[in-house]
Amino acid sequence: MRYARQRVLPEIGDAGQAALAAARILVVGAGGLGSPALLYLSAAGAGLKDSGGCLGIIDDDTVDLSNLQRQILFTESDQGLGKANTAAQRLQQLNSTTDLQIFDTRLSTDNILEIFAGFDIIVDGSDNFDTKYLINDAAVHLGLPVVYGSILGLEGQATVFWAKEGPCYRCLYPQPPETHIPNCAEAGTLGGIAGMIGSMQAVEACKLALGLDHCRSHDLDPLIGQLFVADARNWQTQTLAVEKRADCPVCSLPANQVRLPRAQAQTCASTPAAMSLNDLQGLFESGIPFVLLDVREPQEWATGHLEGALHIPLGRLLVAPEALDALNRQEPLVVYCQHGMRSARAVSYLREQGFDAFNLIVDWSQLHEQ
Ligand SMILES: [Zn+2]
Repeated sequence: MRYARQRVLPEIGDAGQAALAAARILVVGAGGLGSPALLYLSAAGAGLKDSGGCLGIIDDDTVDLSNLQRQILFTESDQGLGKANTAAQRLQQLNSTTDLQIFDTRLSTDNILEIFAGFDIIVDGSDNFDTKYLINDAAVHLGLPVVYGSILGLEGQATVFWAKEGPCYRCLYPQPPETHIPNCAEAGTLGGIAGMIGSMQAVEACKLALGLDHCRSHDLDPLIGQLFVADARNWQTQTLAVEKRADCPVCSLPANQVRLPRAQAQTCASTPAAMSLNDLQGLFESGIPFVLLDVREPQEWATGHLEGALHIPLGRLLVAPEALDALNRQEPLVVYCQHGMRSARAVSYLREQGFDAFNLIVDWSQLHEQ
């Protein structure tokens, strides 16, 4: 009775339900993405006791008032409590038959292989680049699929990285960005967007739990090699093909030769590739020719942009190599967007392509006042 509404689906049925129960799924981070992912996976009967399955939660953080806006596992009375154990209590109320594995710790190079070894599917709900690269490299090493999700302001992304079947995270972004990328605390987000992406991650994890053969015979298509991108400003969505790179620094290696990265301290806007408005003023006054590049969407560009800037939206820049033809490689490129996230991505891509690119970090609200 409990799972009747999904067992009735021809894509799931009794065989699919049994596969879900036997699935061993680890959700990294019980935050904005992990909350809906864990709730839907537990509700769907993924990782049940006595079925060989389990649902893992790893998080070393405690619940803060500012988390409640999007981390729907938690309530006001949970403030100050550890997220992993509190999430487990909440999930136990929802489904007492879920076999919950609790890791009240932070993933690190030293513990990740041991923790991942107990699971078949990893759901990445982490919120920082060091962890995302660590998860990727460990998953490639162990041959595990990673259901990836990320939210950047009002934009969300989801895909499945699985080196055995398609690209890995480093096929898309070979190295961590050199510039500081704002996190949720700095850039902000709306809870529902985390809810949407986290829910998609739960669905993708379910598909993987059903198995690729089951998926193929039921017209289910996991997001392997496809990056879903949604922009809540206007609900424009795209699904971009992500190719496996023959020169990927990680998944082109034999799995047993993949070495895990050592954590690096997050560096802030002082990195050479970041530029302030004052730096830009200095560059302007120096008389050195440079190109100002706006990577926002057309409708953002239309509402106003910096004088003399060139406009190439990030999506086009990343997928259309001919977009680079318009740029002079001899001149420094100063890239900007709204919050510094899309431009940071553009800068790391342009640097890979041999451009001398910089990320202009601007507090636009201040600029308007000036
Ligand atoms: Zn790769």
